[in-house]
Amino acid sequence: MSVWSAQVTCAVRGVRRGRRVRTCGLVGIREKRESTEKREDEYEREAMLRVLKQMMKIGLAALPGLLGCDCACGQQAPQGVKVASLHPLLSEMARRIGGEEVQVVDLFPRNGDLHEFAPDGEAVAAAADSRLVLACGKGVEPYLDSLREALGPQVLLLELGAHVPDVVLPGTRVPDPHWWNCPENMKRASLALADALSALLPTHGADIAARRLTYAQEMDRLTRTAALQLSRLPEQRRTLVTSHAAMCHFCAAFRLRPIAAQGVAREGGGDTAHVAQLLRELRESGVRCLFADLREAPQFLENLAAAVGARVDRLCMDGVAPGVTGYEDVFLHNVRTICRGLQEDAPPPETPSPNASMP
Ligand SMILES: [Zn+2]
Repeated sequence: MSVWSAQVTCAVRGVRRGRRVRTCGLVGIREKRESTEKREDEYEREAMLRVLKQMMKIGLAALPGLLGCDCACGQQAPQGVKVASLHPLLSEMARRIGGEEVQVVDLFPRNGDLHEFAPDGEAVAAAADSRLVLACGKGVEPYLDSLREALGPQVLLLELGAHVPDVVLPGTRVPDPHWWNCPENMKRASLALADALSALLPTHGADIAARRLTYAQEMDRLTRTAALQLSRLPEQRRTLVTSHAAMCHFCAAFRLRPIAAQGVAREGGGDTAHVAQLLRELRESGVRCLFADLREAPQFLENLAAAVGARVDRLCMDGVAPGVTGYEDVFLHNVRTICRGLQEDAPPPETPSPNASMP
């Protein structure tokens, strides 16, 4: 029996039962008159007809809702929205918060370089077919103005970084665009994303808000984990030297001092005076480990490390690398690697050769 026919049958039975109860409460002469088998059958047929008519009215009124319409006009509403993303960590956020109501399209290539990527014609077409395009903002995507113009006003291009406060590289006015390296920023961005998705899917607002709350709680847990582990570093071990200015938000959140060997987007490094100044800073800070991104060739950093008796380790600063499975993995990998690198002691002095002459 279908749900629909079961509802009809139950409703009919209810009417019959109600009629019988009411009949039993009436005067005996009336009860006697309606108790003949023929009259009862007629009554049941009439009752069935009334209930069926009523159910049909209800069914017609409810039909747009049953078909997924969001409004009273009876028009067919979309079952979800397509969201395109220019960064894998934003794709993950959209899937987590949008749930089954969104279809996320990754525009960033699996082996791409964040500072070299620009969408090709295929990616632009995929973005144009979406209702919402997610971007990091803060200058990470220098092509955004052109992309916005190509997409037109019907596609919302949302720069999530615009909802996160700037953190500048110390000694400069240049903001570090890598805001995702701080879970508190991901929390802020997730709120902006949830607002945008709720506007596109108004009937799913409560579900989106609930998923966003879960996401925010996970970001809080990551913040607490990192704060606890990094709090064990003494003051003299709190300098974080990276290849480019990608960890300033992380450093601001967890009280570290950032040094970016090659500037914001690896533009520096070749200037002799800059290298000399850098070597002085590294020796003064006593760092034993410098950090390059997983995606970059660390030759410049390795030369610096060799000059100051340090080594080079790898962080996932750009949030894009083969094998990266999600924000939690990226963030905890960075926390573990930084803690290990900054806690290292200076390498033991080389044992003098027995044949070496004494000074
Ligand atoms: Zn970067």
